[in-house]
Amino acid sequence: MDQASSALHTLRHVFGYSAFRGEQAAIVDQVVQGGDALVLMPTGGGKSLCYQIPSLIREGCGIVVSPLIALMQDQVQALRQLGVRAAFLNSSLEAGEAAAVERAFIGDELDLLYVAPERLMTGRFQNLLDNARIGLFAIDEAHCVSQWGHDFRPEYIQLSVLHERFPNIPRIALTATADAATRQEIIERLALHDARVFVSSFDRPNIRYSVVEKDNPRKQLLRFIRANHEGDAGIVYCLSRKKVEETAAWLKSEGIRALPYHAGLDASTRESHQTQFVRGEGIVMTATVAFGMGIDKPDVRFVAHLDLPKSLEAYYQETGRAGRDGLPSNAWMAYGLQDLVLQREMIEQSQAPDEVKRVERRKLDALLGYCEAPACRRQVLLRYFGEDSTPCGNCDMCLTPPETWDASTAAQQALSTIYRSGQRYGAGHLVDILLGRATAKVTERGHQQLSTFGIGKSVSETQWSTLLRQLVAQGMVGINEHGGLLLQDSCRPVLRGEAVFTARKVRESAPSSATTVRKQIEFESDEARALWAALRQCRRRLAEEQNVPAYIIFGDATLQQMLEKRPMSLEAMYELSGVGDRKLDAYGMAFLEVLQDHARRYG
Ligand code: ADP
Ligand code: ZN
Repeated sequence: MDQASSALHTLRHVFGYSAFRGEQAAIVDQVVQGGDALVLMPTGGGKSLCYQIPSLIREGCGIVVSPLIALMQDQVQALRQLGVRAAFLNSSLEAGEAAAVERAFIGDELDLLYVAPERLMTGRFQNLLDNARIGLFAIDEAHCVSQWGHDFRPEYIQLSVLHERFPNIPRIALTATADAATRQEIIERLALHDARVFVSSFDRPNIRYSVVEKDNPRKQLLRFIRANHEGDAGIVYCLSRKKVEETAAWLKSEGIRALPYHAGLDASTRESHQTQFVRGEGIVMTATVAFGMGIDKPDVRFVAHLDLPKSLEAYYQETGRAGRDGLPSNAWMAYGLQDLVLQREMIEQSQAPDEVKRVERRKLDALLGYCEAPACRRQVLLRYFGEDSTPCGNCDMCLTPPETWDASTAAQQALSTIYRSGQRYGAGHLVDILLGRATAKVTERGHQQLSTFGIGKSVSETQWSTLLRQLVAQGMVGINEHGGLLLQDSCRPVLRGEAVFTARKVRESAPSSATTVRKQIEFESDEARALWAALRQCRRRLAEEQNVPAYIIFGDATLQQMLEKRPMSLEAMYELSGVGDRKLDAYGMAFLEVLQDHARRYG
């Protein structure tokens, strides 16, 4: 068999997939032939196959360097389910277990061996390497060599030794971190100068992006979950531990299976919540950003932000945890002026050097540019990562273009109120003045005397705060370190009535608007719903028997195909994506019985 057909053969028989995706075929080919590769692919792009298939085809064992213990275990479990001889070596193993793995490795009985970087560099392991047959080295999460990134791992720097000691064994480095500086650093530090570089688009087309005006964020979140994600697994990110706890408790009281996760919980609680999330179905993890690294649960259907993330990079990484399996998923965020004020204050009041603050301000501006995007959000995101694209048709702005209005007069009134009140008050107070509310603060400061007091009664409160936010977003209004609004030079033409100011209308957050996405599965009938439940039940039972996550038995994509195609024989079952030889043997009959039984009952 030639190389290309043996790669396809492995893809079909071991993994149960009929075609390679994107650059996978070229990457596999490069490594099978013994060349080096640097692979930049987004989360969920299908990086693992790029070294797993060459490891199966090449003589000897593929060594995979991976920094995350939890991920190693998951991958090894998943591979064993496919009949691949895989194992891992890390600190979680007992001495006896580790020794057994080492024996298997030297005995040429392994296709893939996952190793933590610190172990790889030990004299003991280097010794093993000299005595084993090695097919390739895969360096996963290769951005960990970057000293400037937040995932820096000193042991990664030493990985260049592999090249010196084993110059003839191919190396493949993989990462989902896109920027050019990190890429260059990986090449330098891992001595990958001769590697072929494969850069995929970083777009995640199955993720639908939307941003809603914060008005009652918890209720908006609940409506969003109820409308789109009943029974789905998701992650809700909040800034503070307290808010995590409160949000989780509240969701629970509303009947959603929510669990909290933050660094303030003790290690065993954190671990238990994480395991429940990964193993279980339909758990909503309410978390600080402490949660997520090393989670590769493929069926996370939504990621929601109740607070602004730190930067667009962070946002892309956090939302990227949704939909790794390629099925429709949501990235949803609720945001308001207050979030912006808070972030500004955090930057201005920090002790960081000016240079750092400048960078942080720029990052916040980029984030704001996303939240206030006048058109396709995906274009804003991709452009930030250096990619050009056309409007996506799968974000709120594309699906429901916002209505606009000529807000020139209103903007003038708002700017003038800022000016007249002394350029130091927050949005809430300014809106009170515009609406003519004689609050204690207004009377205390004598602001009912201002000529703009009560001038804006024809515009609603939310419309006013949206307008103020848009003025900030466009740089006409600044925010001081106490959250007070002040004029910027660029507001002059609008203030003088010489320029038109077009504002977007507030997005109503009702579920009928753009925030609603098609359900992951549209049930046409009770009959389909019943079959879906039965298939999930069968999967759950098999997973529990073996104490593995449900998705390791079959992913949602495969189960959905069973629902659509209704295979009535093992041959038909084998046609489905995700059903390889081993899984057909192990689980084909169990699912076939569910399908046949269902057909009899409803037939
Ligand atoms: P990454 O490591 O890049 O985040 P994974 O390797 O975990 O991505 O792959 C993401 C998902 O896509 C997995 O569920 C995987 O089984 C699936 N997948 C990868 N390649 C293919 C393919 N050629 N055909 C079908 N599914 C694929
Ligand atoms: Zn779009």
